[in-house]
Amino acid sequence: MLIEVDLHLHTTFSDGRLTPTKLVELCADRGLRVISISDHDSTEGLAEALEAAGRFPQLTVIPGIELSTDVPGSEIHVLGYFVDYESPVFQNTLTRFREGRQERARKMVEKLGDMGVNVSWERVQELSGGGAIGRPHVAQAMVEAGYIEFPRDAFDKYIGRNGPAYVERVKLTPADAVRVLADNGALPVMAHPTYSESKSGRDEAGSLTDTLQELKEAGLVGMEVYYGDYTPEQVDRLAGLAADFGLVPCGGSDYHASGNPDEPEPGTVGPPMETVEALKYRWKQSAAIS
Ligand code: AMP
Ligand code: MN
Ligand code: MN
Ligand code: MN
Repeated sequence: MLIEVDLHLHTTFSDGRLTPTKLVELCADRGLRVISISDHDSTEGLAEALEAAGRFPQLTVIPGIELSTDVPGSEIHVLGYFVDYESPVFQNTLTRFREGRQERARKMVEKLGDMGVNVSWERVQELSGGGAIGRPHVAQAMVEAGYIEFPRDAFDKYIGRNGPAYVERVKLTPADAVRVLADNGALPVMAHPTYSESKSGRDEAGSLTDTLQELKEAGLVGMEVYYGDYTPEQVDRLAGLAADFGLVPCGGSDYHASGNPDEPEPGTVGPPMETVEALKYRWKQSAAIS
């Protein structure tokens, strides 16, 4: 069955491998109706995506973003929907985050070198194409250099969060990320709240209910429930939690065209259309208050 909504997608402006135009074309071809482009720490692909979507009247693009935070032993990512990407204050913050990513990726390449895994920093930068650089670019350079077969092997062996070449990012708490988004007028949504088989480094951070309580107080509006490779049991449990906390149940494929085997594609996983209606309603409400 085709899923018509996918609220979690990446482009070449972060660690995805399709340009915004190609991604929009793929989604339109596959019959999707509502998508959100949610690059890491960047809104730079949004203008191109919105322009491309103009050619497909049946497809709506919600401007989005994904912010990453580290917590002890794990990481928490926060999505923002209906982001005001023209806000200079917000863009300054994103520039800082992206500068932190450069520094961190360079340190990871150095650590790999110390271990005898020699990937070229110039090549990693080239692969990032000037967008928000991330571990997938390091992983891709390692595949090219023949150290590993698939990008995900780099995470399992080296740069997963407990790996020997991992480097932490700029300090930002999950509640800070929620507030950065809420201050922008965007709707903050907790991304992939629980462990995913296809991606490591996402063990549940302490007690999920405690985290949700804290983030709800900071302004969280939704959480991902329909995500990537979540099993029906995981989806049921998360849908229950979302309902308990009054959070809009969101989700999507988190598609990157990553080159990893079994990557969920757009149109294979996502929330129902009611989620889009609920998000629009919450967005209008928050705009009316501020
Ligand atoms: P970074 O933003 O630099 O911390 O890198 C995290 C990104 O790496 C995520 O957004 C995913 O795109 C990707 N990722 C995380 N874990 C894995 C994994 N086990 N295998 C492949 N890709 C992963
Ligand atoms: Mn990513
Ligand atoms: Mn994420
Ligand atoms: Mn993502």
